[in-house]
Amino acid sequence: MNTDSKGARPPLVDIGVNFHSAQLASMTSPLLARAKAAGVAQILATGTSLASSRLALDLAKANPGVVFATAGVHPHGAKSHDTATFRELIELWKCPEVVAVGECGLDYNRNFSTPQAQRTAFEQQLSMAVETRKPLFLHCRDAFTDFHDMLAPVVADGARGVVHCFTGNRAEAEAFLEMGLDIGITGWVTDLQRGQALRAAVPALPLDRLHLETDAPYLFPKNSGARRGHNEPANLPWVAAGVAELMNREVDEIIQACTANSRRMFNLPGT
Ligand SMILES: [Zn+2]
Repeated sequence: MNTDSKGARPPLVDIGVNFHSAQLASMTSPLLARAKAAGVAQILATGTSLASSRLALDLAKANPGVVFATAGVHPHGAKSHDTATFRELIELWKCPEVVAVGECGLDYNRNFSTPQAQRTAFEQQLSMAVETRKPLFLHCRDAFTDFHDMLAPVVADGARGVVHCFTGNRAEAEAFLEMGLDIGITGWVTDLQRGQALRAAVPALPLDRLHLETDAPYLFPKNSGARRGHNEPANLPWVAAGVAELMNREVDEIIQACTANSRRMFNLPGT
């Protein structure tokens, strides 16, 4: 991407970074500096467990206005979710720096936790999204029917949210959009092999319902040319470029729309 134009580029918001991952741990300062230099003005630090949600909150408190946190239990960790954990999460959701409930959802692909344990943890978090009126940061893999059935009533109760790292096809995207959920796009969109269904779906997606995310350290954007190490938030412009190419629009138009969507969804301050 032409970095000469970055000064004029509208600010980006990365709605998913796993700072707690082994690959990114203890690299927060350089990651944030490089993100800022790349035009990524605000970042949501993903919480996938009680411990990582607390880390995300600490990071948000240390970087006010720049980093915000999600707090929740990923379906993989649902087996260790209990009443005590839930009580602690409720305290986290009260914090203003915690802008979303999640990462939560269902993942029947690998079933690191049983589907029943996943549904119990998801159900509790869905009810808290309604109660706190905070948006959901959602994960769904190979569980569309149950996911859809569990979300429908809470969306009817006013819950909002983003299906993060959406990798599905056009029909699934349309089903989520019809429910009122937004779609999070990662570097998956730049993967010419695995990303085929998503790439076919993107041109038809409404620009006012999309969000950009790296999901770092995962999903290094393949359109960036050289792959060096793990993914990081500074690579978000490549995701925007991938979407822009598929939609046949200017990158700045994509960024502007997605930033506005993310700020509105997660109630982030504008600059
Ligand atoms: Zn996820």
